Amino acid sequence: MKKQRTGDQNFVKQMNKSIVFNSIKNKGPMSRTQISKNTGLNKATVSTMASELIDESFVNEMESGQSSGGRKPVMLYFNNHAGYSIGIDLGVNYILGVLTDLNGTIMEELSSPLSSTEYTEVKRSLNAIIESLMAKAQDSPYGVIGIGIGAPGYVDLDEKILFAPNLKWNEVDLKADIEGEFDIPVYIQNEANCGARGENLYGAGKDISNLVYISIGIGIGAGIIIHNELYSGTSGISGEIGHFTIEANGRKCTCGNHGCWELYASENALLQNATQQKVLNDREDISLEEIMADAKMGNPKVLHVLHTLGEYIGIGLTNVINTFNPEMVIIGNRISQLNNWIENPIKHVLQERLSELHKENTVVNFSVLGKYSSALGAASISISNFFSTQRLESLHSFPKTIQI
Ligand SMILES: [Zn+2]
Repeated sequence: MKKQRTGDQNFVKQMNKSIVFNSIKNKGPMSRTQISKNTGLNKATVSTMASELIDESFVNEMESGQSSGGRKPVMLYFNNHAGYSIGIDLGVNYILGVLTDLNGTIMEELSSPLSSTEYTEVKRSLNAIIESLMAKAQDSPYGVIGIGIGAPGYVDLDEKILFAPNLKWNEVDLKADIEGEFDIPVYIQNEANCGARGENLYGAGKDISNLVYISIGIGIGAGIIIHNELYSGTSGISGEIGHFTIEANGRKCTCGNHGCWELYASENALLQNATQQKVLNDREDISLEEIMADAKMGNPKVLHVLHTLGEYIGIGLTNVINTFNPEMVIIGNRISQLNNWIENPIKHVLQERLSELHKENTVVNFSVLGKYSSALGAASISISNFFSTQRLESLHSFPKTIQI
């Protein structure tokens, strides 16, 4: 019985510490008195927890500039430079790496094109980028706390990459390979799931509990956030919405199905259509960047293929909104750069096809973080896990106030 009681007390202490920490992190700088008022914890408890957090370098003190007579109150603030995190967006033809502080602010970034999708080549490029980012991190109490990687493909709950069709990888354990190199925790998730986390924490979906992030690049995938938690599915591979059928008798897809959404609404689909429509005369290797440049110049053929793309995106979004009833849908990845030209046709289709009930309750936005959604989301996985192992945050939410 006695042992049980000690366990309970430790648990309550950890909870209180976590409440003080999150109060400072989310609302600081603030004084001990303010924390006590905000959290309902008594001042002695707040002081004890604050001292521990200061000793552990998670919180710093500073004197407030303002004083209403008497001693200036000492303010506490989160030390966002107590450690750093690395986030990687592993694309099909590029790697983008960021080094962030513990608030997810980008301190450094590096990118390199991928000339080969061969596993050992990609791993070599990844190692080089990670090594350079680590070398750029300032000295800090906890150093680089982990590496998150957003990968284009099916990633299971053990974070193994089961299948990455565009990289032509089957069953690779990139997590173990990178951990073997750097000896710090490595986390791997599907790039759309990382993008959803990134936008939910730092971008267009801040404070939104139910959202679907649609990553439209070479293919289409989705990261689904339900009640503030990423929905991974039974085996981790939810969100393969690029393979929704939108044309019953449509073209055959590599997945085995016919008429999949990504055959009509992805970057690949756009580039194919642009080539067929000869938007740049007889050019066959048109890039997204060239399409954007010509759209800005008002090339009518380019504007037409972009309009068609927007309509197809809208048709797929109708399915997404009818399925999930999300508060917000965020369109991200490379296609989001075309927002000026595809937003109107998307909204027109939704206006025509969605029921009034959905129209009232769903907002469609474009990514705010742009090319950084997935890398920042990946970096945030290390940060969450770090705070969780330090018992400062739960991967699930704590009750608001507990006091001994
Ligand atoms: Zn398909």
